[in-house]
Amino acid sequence: MASPQNAASTGGGSDGGGVRGLSSLVILRSLLGQVQAVVGVPLNPHDIFDLVVGTSTGGLIALMIGKLGMTVDECIEQYKRLSGVIFVDGRHLRGRMTLGLLKERYSEGVLCREIEELFRRKGRNPAETMATSVKLLPETERAHSAVVCREYIDTPNGPPRLKPEAVLLCSHPCPGPRIRCTVCRAGRATSAAPSYFPPQMIQRDGQKDARLIDGGLQFSNPSVAAWYHYRRRTHKGLEWEGSRLISLGTGRYDGESYHPPQRTRLKRLIHMPSAITLMRDATTDPNNTATHMEEIAGLSSVNIEYHRFSATTGVCWIKMDDYKSLEFIERRTDEYLRFPDVSREITECAESIAQDYIEGLNRSAGELGNGEAT
Ligand SMILES: [Zn+2]
Repeated sequence: MASPQNAASTGGGSDGGGVRGLSSLVILRSLLGQVQAVVGVPLNPHDIFDLVVGTSTGGLIALMIGKLGMTVDECIEQYKRLSGVIFVDGRHLRGRMTLGLLKERYSEGVLCREIEELFRRKGRNPAETMATSVKLLPETERAHSAVVCREYIDTPNGPPRLKPEAVLLCSHPCPGPRIRCTVCRAGRATSAAPSYFPPQMIQRDGQKDARLIDGGLQFSNPSVAAWYHYRRRTHKGLEWEGSRLISLGTGRYDGESYHPPQRTRLKRLIHMPSAITLMRDATTDPNNTATHMEEIAGLSSVNIEYHRFSATTGVCWIKMDDYKSLEFIERRTDEYLRFPDVSREITECAESIAQDYIEGLNRSAGELGNGEAT
């Protein structure tokens, strides 16, 4: 295990990301490529990260890396395939015509089938439980992973409300009420963006079943949710002290360049949707969370390093179900990675991670040598 520990948080679009999750994978590919160049051997993300947390499609990425031990290239390939299938084959006409008011726009059946297919392709059983006993974990799952969701709670005289705190479905034994769900259901729960997919029911010992949706409404940057969860509940093998948290976003607007696309005359006349968009962005802006996380990192008695990467090159204007823009997202994210200050920070991060990895290997080799000598 690398020391200091590295954690990655994936997700971070104003509506949870959708197809824009590809942007976070392109950033991860660049980071890992540079770590490999220093170390000199091919590495998987689970070799350098001790914890991967995500929400919405970022949650699916966390499962691909943490539970399935996939390489970045495999993740990118499967992500593109999933985006095409889910947002093409899974469309409900009635839902689309009413912008999701009468019915979710996409079928959960297609999403579930595709997540199960992902597991079969890796030779794994889609009915595996999310939280696995550490003893039973294969080599590729030594990294912790978790998906971030939000829970609906019933109110006596009104519509259901969303609980303020996040629910994390963790890959390793987690203190607190035991949550029983398969990995596929966890993937479904974190992808259940309101108006796109229906909520997912999850069994919980000693409590009512939880009705979960994706964390994008408040936790689109899941770093803070991860921080609180893992800080309050001890998970064997994870330490925050001296850790490095890398937050991979799905695009943001810096207010200076890559402005929103021109609205048509008709759309300019309709003010209501823009008011809704503004409200939604205000409540879900992942960059507020990034600022919050930076403050936590600065004020906390625990020593943590925080890095946030999110393409400022127009990726944020892509709709979460616009699967035709995958190539654009990839190209524009590469452009962002070439910005001198971004490139410098990625390189510095990669060099530190590589150095820690090499030291970790030397330490393990030393311990092994001492063991043999005694
Ligand atoms: Zn947990």
